[in-house]
Amino acid sequence: MGLLTGKTALITGASRGIGKAIAEKFAEEGANLILTDLFYDDQAKNLEEKLNQMGVKAKMYASDASKFADAQRVVEEALKDFERIDILVNNAGITRDNLLMRMTEEQWDLVINVNLKSVFNLTKAVQGTMLRQRSGSIINMSSVVGVSGNAGQANYSASKAGMIGFTKTIARELGSRNIRCNAIAPGFILTEMTEKLSEEVRKEWAEKIPMKRGGSTEEVAKVALFLASDLSSYVSGQVIQVCGAMLT
Ligand code: NAD
Repeated sequence: MGLLTGKTALITGASRGIGKAIAEKFAEEGANLILTDLFYDDQAKNLEEKLNQMGVKAKMYASDASKFADAQRVVEEALKDFERIDILVNNAGITRDNLLMRMTEEQWDLVINVNLKSVFNLTKAVQGTMLRQRSGSIINMSSVVGVSGNAGQANYSASKAGMIGFTKTIARELGSRNIRCNAIAPGFILTEMTEKLSEEVRKEWAEKIPMKRGGSTEEVAKVALFLASDLSSYVSGQVIQVCGAMLT
């Protein structure tokens, strides 16, 4: 018996990076998986196949988490295939970094819509199901820069800080219905998002981290597993930093 046997999780932005690692970790623990990403491409298809071979039911849906109607549609469709949703991981996220002086309105709107509005969209879409089930765990993938701020990331930091406010509010609103809501704030995690940075910048970052290295996607996935499972049955409204003591 895995920690998530009998549960179904919906993970956004799941075809690579942290979302993919969470899908794999949840599958190891027996969860069925509703996965979304912008496109049903080879990456998405390969992951879907791999997870089904692990003995759980997994299906990937092409869906833009930043679009309200699309979130409603995908949850409706998924409920025909899966019947229940116990866990929601709002993981989809992007960066469009620029100093405020150069940041365009498009860069601001895009990051706020993909990172923050998506959390509202998906949480609204699964809320009714979780209320009927009288249980649920919602996990929002924030960032340490949502806590600390970061020069050149006004849009990203604001979106990630907004997710924290949303997390704490939902924990208060839905706590009496046994629905928990927590945020994970990763520090510097080695994924395609951070691979875009030069070797030099990555080294510089690692030097600033007390643990002297970036984190792995699996290290974030293990915390997501804790929050998704009954191991954290009395943990709600919290922000767990996974950052090698980068921010204390
Ligand atoms: P990534 O770029 O590797 O993966 C993000 C996934 O989200 C991609 O598959 C992408 O296609 C998908 N996506 C983008 N826009 C989408 C949309 N509108 N709808 C649905 N899917 C969409 O990124 P990652 O590093 O795995 O990051 C995952 C999450 O963790 C993000 O929210 C990110 O902000 C957060 N995070 C990452 C780090 C890090 O160091 N990598 C640190 C802190 C927080």
